[in-house]
Amino acid sequence: MEAVITKKIFDSDKVRKDFPILQRAAGGKPLVYFDNAATSQKPNSVINAIGNYYKNYNANIHRGLYSISIEASEAYDKAREKVREYINAREAREIIFTRGTTEAVNLVAYSYGRQNIKEDDEIIISAMEHHANIVPWQVLCEEKKAKLKIIPVNDKGELLINDYKKLISPRTKLVAVCHISNSLGTINPVKEIVSLAHEKNIPVLIDGAQAVHHTKVDVRSLNADFYAFSGHKMYAPMGIGVLYGKAKLLETMPPYQTGGDMISSVSFEKTLYNEIPMKFEAGTPNVEGAIGLGAAIDYINSIGLENISEHESALLNYATDEISKIEGIRIIGTAENKASVLSFVVEGLNALDIGIMLDTSGVAVRTGQHCTEPLMDWFGIPGTARASFAFYNTIEEVDFFIDALKNAVRILK
Ligand code: PLP
Repeated sequence: MEAVITKKIFDSDKVRKDFPILQRAAGGKPLVYFDNAATSQKPNSVINAIGNYYKNYNANIHRGLYSISIEASEAYDKAREKVREYINAREAREIIFTRGTTEAVNLVAYSYGRQNIKEDDEIIISAMEHHANIVPWQVLCEEKKAKLKIIPVNDKGELLINDYKKLISPRTKLVAVCHISNSLGTINPVKEIVSLAHEKNIPVLIDGAQAVHHTKVDVRSLNADFYAFSGHKMYAPMGIGVLYGKAKLLETMPPYQTGGDMISSVSFEKTLYNEIPMKFEAGTPNVEGAIGLGAAIDYINSIGLENISEHESALLNYATDEISKIEGIRIIGTAENKASVLSFVVEGLNALDIGIMLDTSGVAVRTGQHCTEPLMDWFGIPGTARASFAFYNTIEEVDFFIDALKNAVRILK
């Protein structure tokens, strides 16, 4: 163990105390939460920020002239500014609050897509996309009689960049790929992907759902045209997410939903739309979610993304070494550049049975297709068991998981 983590990156015991749920048991055993790629746990500071909003200044925003509405509006706008700073966007108006990554991708597909994609056009995605970054494009292509092109992966679960280069054609109108794969952990070379598309003036959407809390994302340096992510995977509440878009693109795009807040004037003859970002935030927004997301960003910054990444890599490397010693294990996703996702199958066993057995030991892992059915088909497997680590996880928990897994394999075989 000492050989793996040579220095104490931060005080795990102290950090774990910030997360009330990590103090509970599951099935009479301490909870070992390894399903962080599905959703993360929430620190007290996030829970308290939401509680504080409801206890002290709950009001609808941008409408009231009274003090608690002004306070709520300021907190909402401040959260947008925190997101801007976190991903280094040029302007806060380039940050659109959505329900999550799924809604952010749908927003681009419905608004930008319906405006710009025409018959016989092509959209490039990759073989490792989450359904959230497949289905909106598929529906758009069906509607417009356009084509979906798929960047293939190799056996390690890495994108084949030469094939991507060959897929780019004069008909390509958009590229949409994930930054980090949720089922393999592969970190894609998104900067290169963006730059290759830009050589042909093709805009790129990056699905950053698995990336923003693991690694520093600088949208200006990536030069992505759109970048989507979900709050709940980065220690913030559910139901809040972000679409970053370059202002010059967002300004030309039609609204995705219509109603209150997204307008500047309405008459029965004509409606004038609001400026960005409000143009894309119709109706009462998720104020508590945005405030919670702001608190989560403060929390991440207090730990430091570099520390988070370093600790998570150490957990991944250690878990990979240990799991590889178990007979019959096959790791799915062995890319050179990987985030803290460990997907695996055990020869002759069903991943679901492994998940159920691990749960009896208090270990929460995800099993199944992880919303990446085409990728599972490509690997020729029905699904995997997936352990995904966050910075609050420990080497001791990995040891516990490995023992529980060995036990499960012994009983099931
Ligand atoms: N994209 C990736 C890579 C994901 O991992 C997920 C969720 O697991 C999504 C998109 C969808 O995110 P959400 O359900 O929060 O909208």
